[in-house]
Amino acid sequence: MSKPASVIFPDVPTAAMTYCTSRFRTVRRPAVEVKVGAVGVGETNPIRLQSMTTSDTQDVVATVRQSVALAEVGCEIVRITAPNVAAARCLRDIRAQFSAAGFEHIPLVADIHFLPSAAMEAVEHVEKVRVNPGNYADKKKFAVREYSDADYDRELARLYEAFSPLVLRAKALGRSLRIGTNHGSLSDRIMNRHGDTPLGMVESALEFVRICESHGFHGLILSMKASNPKVMIQAYRLLVARMDTAHRPYPLHLGVTEAGDGEDGRIKSAIGIGSLLLDGLGDTIRVSLTEDSVYEIPVARTLAEKAGISRQESAAVRQETGTPQRGAENPEPEGSDPFNFSKRETVTFMLGKHCVVGPEQPPRVIVRVTPAELPHLKSKVSSPNFADTPVEGVLVPVTSGADLALVIAGVREWAPSAFLALELVPELTPADCEAQTSNLKSPVLLVRAFAAGESEFLRSFAALARRHGHFLVCAVAPADLPRLGETLRDLGDAHLVFTLDSRLPAPDRAHSVGRYRQLAAQLRALGSRAPVWIRNTAATAIGRSPDFLSRLLDASILTGALLCDGLGDLVSIETEADPARATKLAYNVLQGAGARSSKTEFVACPSCGRTLFDLQTTTQRIRKRTGHLKGVKIAIMGCIVNGPGEMADADFGYVGGAPGKINLYVGKTCVQYNLPQAEADDRLVALIREHGKWAEPAPAASPCFAAPSPSRDPAVTAS
Ligand code: SF4
Repeated sequence: MSKPASVIFPDVPTAAMTYCTSRFRTVRRPAVEVKVGAVGVGETNPIRLQSMTTSDTQDVVATVRQSVALAEVGCEIVRITAPNVAAARCLRDIRAQFSAAGFEHIPLVADIHFLPSAAMEAVEHVEKVRVNPGNYADKKKFAVREYSDADYDRELARLYEAFSPLVLRAKALGRSLRIGTNHGSLSDRIMNRHGDTPLGMVESALEFVRICESHGFHGLILSMKASNPKVMIQAYRLLVARMDTAHRPYPLHLGVTEAGDGEDGRIKSAIGIGSLLLDGLGDTIRVSLTEDSVYEIPVARTLAEKAGISRQESAAVRQETGTPQRGAENPEPEGSDPFNFSKRETVTFMLGKHCVVGPEQPPRVIVRVTPAELPHLKSKVSSPNFADTPVEGVLVPVTSGADLALVIAGVREWAPSAFLALELVPELTPADCEAQTSNLKSPVLLVRAFAAGESEFLRSFAALARRHGHFLVCAVAPADLPRLGETLRDLGDAHLVFTLDSRLPAPDRAHSVGRYRQLAAQLRALGSRAPVWIRNTAATAIGRSPDFLSRLLDASILTGALLCDGLGDLVSIETEADPARATKLAYNVLQGAGARSSKTEFVACPSCGRTLFDLQTTTQRIRKRTGHLKGVKIAIMGCIVNGPGEMADADFGYVGGAPGKINLYVGKTCVQYNLPQAEADDRLVALIREHGKWAEPAPAASPCFAAPSPSRDPAVTAS
């Protein structure tokens, strides 16, 4: 065999790279079709939904039962771990029994880490094999060393020898392969040359792609998973940009790994998967939850449906305008860099008694309440993990002058620490507002939609805001974005905030994320540093959102995608009628996007056939003890084989070491081995104390509102 030449990336400036046809509308990336058994992935095939069994693979009956359960809820591709050759051998019986149960058409995938011998056995029995390029031919040693180009080439030659037999066998049998990179388990070679960066993740996969292509094998699907959605989004974008210049456009498998469970797991998945689907990327998806796998499918289906709706909108406008379905649209807003995160620069200002808005500040949370609810508002949200989470801003709709007087009177009695935003109907004039708000001690946000041609009126409101130290929130209709220059003329940024009036459709049918990107692009082009308020409303939803899950996914996609782009200074989720739930959801979305930490961050693997303890109950137990530790990241991983490598940048790790035994980690260092599980929770808490990261739980705060919301919603919990 002649090995392919080593290729280290040429230094292509990221500004010259594109990864999608439109950042404003959903135009699906044209991937080639790869067959996984009878199921086509990529090209014009629907986005395929997949999941993974969690049983011991050598328990054939249990694994077949789980595979059937997944297939019955709509899973189109089932993955099963093959941790050793014996387990890989069991895949033959699993395949046979699964087919006999009527699911011959559903392909099975073997999940391989570390053992090429297990992969060589598995490829004989199932339709696809997933390999992790970080550990297929490399043992993770966390070694720091310099690799000269000659060293690096020697490593690639070793990789070539180790991986080629699988490629050749897959080619002979008509199997497909997934090159599945994980952010947390890159090889030492990649780590030392590229670091644990999106670029390192991409190069890790392309090392394997080049070997496949050198053998004329193209049945490839690629993935770039990370537990941090921001890293995952950047890695997929970079992969596409790099891959499409030198390789075939292989289909993409999207997923956020170790996303956790409940609301948090769904939010993280929606941020990562949902925003890439809106960009037109992704051909098959897996939502990884630390719950029974069947609960992953409804979430994946809803995300895929939303992407479909967004694609149809885009296709319709392209047909109406005669724009070709592919190409012909400048995808990048001027000045934005989708491959590197940087927060948009804005002016800084103070709202209320404690709240600063600005580029160095976390996004501020605003909750919408009715005038009747306002007097009952307390200053903090109460729920198990939100003991010290403040209500920062309150948005109250005001429909008349009398209404405004009542709200202001209520505010005077209420004397909150939160700042006030007043949503004004067009009938209210600047004079009405001045009379009521001029004597308020704290600045308020005056929120008003301005139609085209109302620029004089807008100027009057802006002057009023400046005179009294208030802020004008200018809600711009998408159709009026091109005229934003007129709005900004002579006004300056000092007392302005921008948001979208999403009730009116965008004339180019941009999706809700795209509309905010257009707003930010316009502000950038005009040199404005005014903050942007992301408002989640019924009008920003993708399709109908009849239940909490759908609304949660909408809020996560819009808010999360924009925050991962570095956009958004204020956030409100106005689709939840219960203000306590809306506030909690907003903080959870900010945490999921890595924009603001309000509680402990849990990185929990979804579990699989390697898992050594009950991940679901353990995660819930540890959350109960440590969920109040703001800013602390705890990983709960089911096995020692993969767990330590994949727990990313967690502060502490709780990892299955052997049946009934737990290893505890501080960062990537194992500090306690083989603890009986009955002692492990206490020892974890002791370890957190020793490292100065422990805080006593705060006494329960008074509820945000008179009736506290349930802490978990049945629509998003497993049971
Ligand atoms: S870390 Fe969890 S999901 Fe990953 S291999 Fe181990 S048990 Fe399976």
